[in-house]
Amino acid sequence: MIHAIIRCFVIICCLFIVQQISFQSYVYGDESLYEERLALYKKTAAVSNIPWYYLAAIDQYERNMKSNSKEDEELISIHFADEVWYGIGNAAMDPNVAIIQLFNGIGLDGNGDGKADLKNGEDVLYTMAAYLESFGISEDDIKIGLWNFYQRDLSVKTITNTAKVFKHFQTTILTDRDFPVSIGHNYSYRSTWGYRRGFGGNRIHEGTDIFANYGTPVKSTTYGVVELKGWNLYGGWRIGIRDIYNIYHYYAHLNSYHDDIQVGDIVKPGDVLGSVGSSGYGPPGTAGKFPPHLHYGMYKDNGRSEWSFDPYHYLKRWERIAREKRRSS
Ligand SMILES: [Zn+2]
Repeated sequence: MIHAIIRCFVIICCLFIVQQISFQSYVYGDESLYEERLALYKKTAAVSNIPWYYLAAIDQYERNMKSNSKEDEELISIHFADEVWYGIGNAAMDPNVAIIQLFNGIGLDGNGDGKADLKNGEDVLYTMAAYLESFGISEDDIKIGLWNFYQRDLSVKTITNTAKVFKHFQTTILTDRDFPVSIGHNYSYRSTWGYRRGFGGNRIHEGTDIFANYGTPVKSTTYGVVELKGWNLYGGWRIGIRDIYNIYHYYAHLNSYHDDIQVGDIVKPGDVLGSVGSSGYGPPGTAGKFPPHLHYGMYKDNGRSEWSFDPYHYLKRWERIAREKRRSS
């Protein structure tokens, strides 16, 4: 029995460490790989007329869908099924471009070696660009091309928004982060993800509550696009931001929104979204049913489903980043 408990504990610890390491490489990565990718996006854009930030956003989206940290090291993560790449009937999976075309495969040769290699990043990216180009090169054409490829609205929306962020900042290297509550104000929080809560039936607590006074500025933790804004029975005045890693950041119980922040706006770490309040748990305008706090939730989407995970350890890290920045400024 005791052995089983110890084993269980060791497994949980290992899982936690693996998750932390894969997140690090995920988000902070190695910069030379980012630069190599960026160069390839731009090179492929030049020969296909598909803007580099769309190619980057598709590649980023596909990388996010994979949980294997080894895949993070791949140059390009876009995936084509064998029969789509080589063509149905090309059973020998002959990479010769003429043979692939004979079998109506999609695979093309991007690096000029005469072969369409499914494992070669240049070939894969060039093939994706040519596929999109066949639908046209305007923003609407690209959306139609993306819809045909993924057949899922949220995938198209996420890729389009990520492209917007890359275009706006003119880079894919966006590793800065911030704490969601102004660290110049009084606040407190502890790990409460997964706790039971009363209102609204048997829901678990999908986030971390950061207690602070009314009016304390609430800030974006990441780069991303505002995906949702408005009233919700439980969340009150809330705002949702999807980042370039396809993680959805949810800020609830706000007292007010910043200026006229709108759905579709691009944000960066530290941008003020609104202020801490106690809105929610009733019809629009309900407030004061609990002490003022920011409810901060994080949700991951893998292209098929979405789930909540504990933001606590990320909050701790971003708090350190915010403190260091404050000290050095
Ligand atoms: Zn909460």
